[in-house]
Amino acid sequence: MRNGSLALGDYPGDVVHISCKRCGRSGSYRLDGLIARFGADDALPDVPLELASCERRADFSRPCGARFTDLAR
Ligand SMILES: [Zn+2]
Repeated sequence: MRNGSLALGDYPGDVVHISCKRCGRSGSYRLDGLIARFGADDALPDVPLELASCERRADFSRPCGARFTDLAR
């Protein structure tokens, strides 16, 4: 069981949009391509950080802010 978080296979749409407010990066990816790469069960919160080649990715004190723009509230 997943602990309440969405998985990649649950993403609402065919194209995944990701952006990072901290470094200004953004990108879009086809959902089927991401599922082929990560698997439909990969937890959604993990995906932006794996995709974003952000300089803050390994900075644990100020981590990368990459997130799904479609899911932002
Ligand atoms: Zn970033």
